[in-house]
Amino acid sequence: MISRLENLLKGETIKIKELVRDKWEINKSYNNNESKTLSEIKFRVADRVEKVIIEFVFFPVEEGWRKSKDIISDELRDNEQLSDFLSGLENEEDFVDKVLPFRNHINFIIYDSRGNFRGRWDHPSHFGQEIIISRDSGETSNGFISGPLPRGEWKLIIEKHSIITDKIDINLKIKTLGEFSLHQSYSGELHAHSIHSDGNSSLEELQRFAAEKSLDYIAITDHNNISGWHEKNLHHPVTIIPGLEFSTFDGHALSLNIDSFINWHDLYTNKKSLNEIIDMVHYQGGIFGISHPLEFGDPLCVGCRWNFTEFSWENVDFLEVWVRNWSKNEFKNDGSYNLWKEKLSEGYQITAIASNDLHDKNEFNTKRRPLTFIQARCNCKEELINSIWEGRVYLSSGPIIDLFLSPKESRDKKYYIGDLVSCSGNNWIISVNIEEIFQAGILKVIGDKGELKRVHFDHSEEISIPLLTDKEKYIYIEITSEEGEILLISNPIYFTNK
Ligand SMILES: [Zn+2]
Ligand SMILES: [Zn+2]
Repeated sequence: MISRLENLLKGETIKIKELVRDKWEINKSYNNNESKTLSEIKFRVADRVEKVIIEFVFFPVEEGWRKSKDIISDELRDNEQLSDFLSGLENEEDFVDKVLPFRNHINFIIYDSRGNFRGRWDHPSHFGQEIIISRDSGETSNGFISGPLPRGEWKLIIEKHSIITDKIDINLKIKTLGEFSLHQSYSGELHAHSIHSDGNSSLEELQRFAAEKSLDYIAITDHNNISGWHEKNLHHPVTIIPGLEFSTFDGHALSLNIDSFINWHDLYTNKKSLNEIIDMVHYQGGIFGISHPLEFGDPLCVGCRWNFTEFSWENVDFLEVWVRNWSKNEFKNDGSYNLWKEKLSEGYQITAIASNDLHDKNEFNTKRRPLTFIQARCNCKEELINSIWEGRVYLSSGPIIDLFLSPKESRDKKYYIGDLVSCSGNNWIISVNIEEIFQAGILKVIGDKGELKRVHFDHSEEISIPLLTDKEKYIYIEITSEEGEILLISNPIYFTNK
């Protein structure tokens, strides 16, 4: 009780599970000539929501008894199969009573903003009940799928199988609840090769090594292969993210959190476009990102440089901006960083990640290795992946940060890396608590129009920076040594009109 009170006094956000974030009530009517059609209803889930609650009813539920009898009499006259079936029964009336009265038959299915199926409402079992889709499996309703609730536009598709009455009126209530904070980050490696491609460690060795290095997660991304996933499940306390690295003739790309093999050969037989290959990743609940876009290409490393032009950047979830040592020229990290900034300024919300493109675990002992820090609700695969998709990530070769943005007049409201903030042009306080840094450095706040603020610091400390934004599209931070070496890059907090 005391610590909760202390937290309140310190202005910490206390999780209030039942806080209503948004609610909608939708009333629509459909005529009986709309049987066998689909209707789509969209709604927008805000950042860091805990639950989506849906209630759905329609009226009338069934056709009147008399009209139902008329319908079945007509059917008996015209439908030989039905009359044969009924005449073979001992008690014909019982059967007729059982099928009457005819009901309107309406259901819906729901997709989240990442295009993943989240469940189906089934009449009559869900009629008039509150349906819960939660991040936690324990409270999610039967017929629906728990897990991360990605922000953005969700779709509910109404299936009108049969409208037997003249018309029906539907009443749909949707609300979103809860808002969790994001002070916890998990660090790890998103790009690792094992002996199942050209790495030198087995999966067990990679996991043990990740545990020794206190990594929270490791992604297994062998070249065009998933055979490593079949090594028996190991029990190190490290979250494993199954993936693969598409190693094509014209570029490499990571696909993370897929559940089966995906082949890129169709790109070269003209059967599929790159966008269609990326769709296959997304259909499996995975995310897609370009690896080392500016690595040496042919003939030094055939296919290693990104040369594809026929694809939509909208489909790219992340970009490997920092590979191994920042200044390693093989990867031209500064060029990848510029490419990322160029895409941000064009309006794409692509998450920057770091990696070591790990082939030999000893490489990891070299200085200035970057890690990807993912701010997530738990160290669990689905939430980590969703946080990468939402951009809740910073890249660091050492410092650890806790960063949030608050309106100057409302300091208890906190926006985190990756959040979409629905206004710009305001007075803000950006708070950055820097730890694990043992040298003086420079913290820069950068917007889409360039550097906004610069603060020199001596060591780990908590820095509050007043900030006046003027129609910025986003802000992010960069931390360098006094000599200008990059030590940390955050992903943006985005300003949006949505
Ligand atoms: Zn590669
Ligand atoms: Zn690789």
